[in-house]
Amino acid sequence: MSTTALDPAALTPESLSAGLLSRLGAREDLARGFGPAASPLPGAVSLLGGAPSAGDLPLEALHRAAEDLTSDPAALVGALQYSTPAGIAPLREWIARREGVDASRVLLTNGAFHGLSLLFDALLDRGDRIVVEDPTYPLIFRDLQHHEVEVLPLPLTAEGLDLDALEDRLEAGARPKLLYTVPDFHNPTGLITPALQRERLTALAEHYGFVIVSDNAYAGLAFPGVQVPEDYPTDSELVVRVRTFSKILGPGLRLGYLVLPSWLVGPVTRLRANQDQHSSVLVQSVVERVVGAGGREGLDGGLEAIADRARTRYALRADLLAHLLETGVPGGVRIEQRTGGIFLWARVLDDGIDLAAAQRLARERFGTDMALGRYFFLTGDDEDHGRLRVGISHLDEAALTDGAERLIAALTAPEAR
Ligand code: PMP
Repeated sequence: MSTTALDPAALTPESLSAGLLSRLGAREDLARGFGPAASPLPGAVSLLGGAPSAGDLPLEALHRAAEDLTSDPAALVGALQYSTPAGIAPLREWIARREGVDASRVLLTNGAFHGLSLLFDALLDRGDRIVVEDPTYPLIFRDLQHHEVEVLPLPLTAEGLDLDALEDRLEAGARPKLLYTVPDFHNPTGLITPALQRERLTALAEHYGFVIVSDNAYAGLAFPGVQVPEDYPTDSELVVRVRTFSKILGPGLRLGYLVLPSWLVGPVTRLRANQDQHSSVLVQSVVERVVGAGGREGLDGGLEAIADRARTRYALRADLLAHLLETGVPGGVRIEQRTGGIFLWARVLDDGIDLAAAQRLARERFGTDMALGRYFFLTGDDEDHGRLRVGISHLDEAALTDGAERLIAALTAPEAR
């Protein structure tokens, strides 16, 4: 670190540390490729998505929780004071019961992304290797960039994880420190990792000694009738579960949690305390009331009932959007997974359509947007990239239909060839 004092009058972006600059650089890259158009057309209906729509947010439950909290002076004073780094006891205990672990292993975070960032900070040193599904949720690279790690892609196909390929690499001496996976309704593919693959991967982690970071951001959002295997086992010292309330209660709450193996509890908690002390007690106290922690009854039926209503609606919207795209896109699309979560991953079958050109038209002429498949891949040929990810949770059925029609118009335009 430089010992030269900074001159406040002469501060420029160059005054920042090299590490911070590289993080900011990474974010700019991502924002350019993945984010919405810089200035969307008036009335645009984007299909990017990633969060519940206004009609899906549990407004009534959150309103009642906030009212209950603010009308109880003692509780309100508690919610306005400093608290413990790991989170408030009733919420941790409620989570611990659901996860089947001791409450000492639960750490509340400001969302899943913060949980991942804490884990990367705690575990990674420059030059370490990490295994990442290919394709994957690309925003993790915002955070990974400054760790300067080597990323080993783990192919993810319609059958799930290619664990033979991973085992070959491990046999050949690759020594990853951690593996990042999204087990349920994977972002972007929608895949559910089969139970047998979860077991085999856990055995590989135990044998070769790497941590499985299970980012289960979409847990609880299975479409009705779909069975999901148990998350990676909490009795392994090499598994961390990452969860969030973002996708069911709302991402603006910035609340999620980690289920840590006991050896990581101390280091991650200290790291967290040094960063920002703890998550907002006000937010934790509201969520405590909504989910029914601390011996209370959950509001609006509690988290499970709120998720049940959302996933029933998301299943209908997934059917609607899939039908519109399958019948409306020239040459059709193939959607392999429709089992839960908040995205559809569509393969555009006519490879004469230039998806990047279609996205430009969608943004500039038709007033919609989508995520291009290629943003999610680490490797692969162009054929693999002929895919789109579209959201289903953030719009009601009428708006979704409107967005789909705009997208189809962009994919059909002669300029997209
Ligand atoms: N992980 C995955 C796989 C996600 O898709 C998202 C949200 N897009 C996150 C983490 C971030 O969640 P949060 O809002 O809780 O930080």
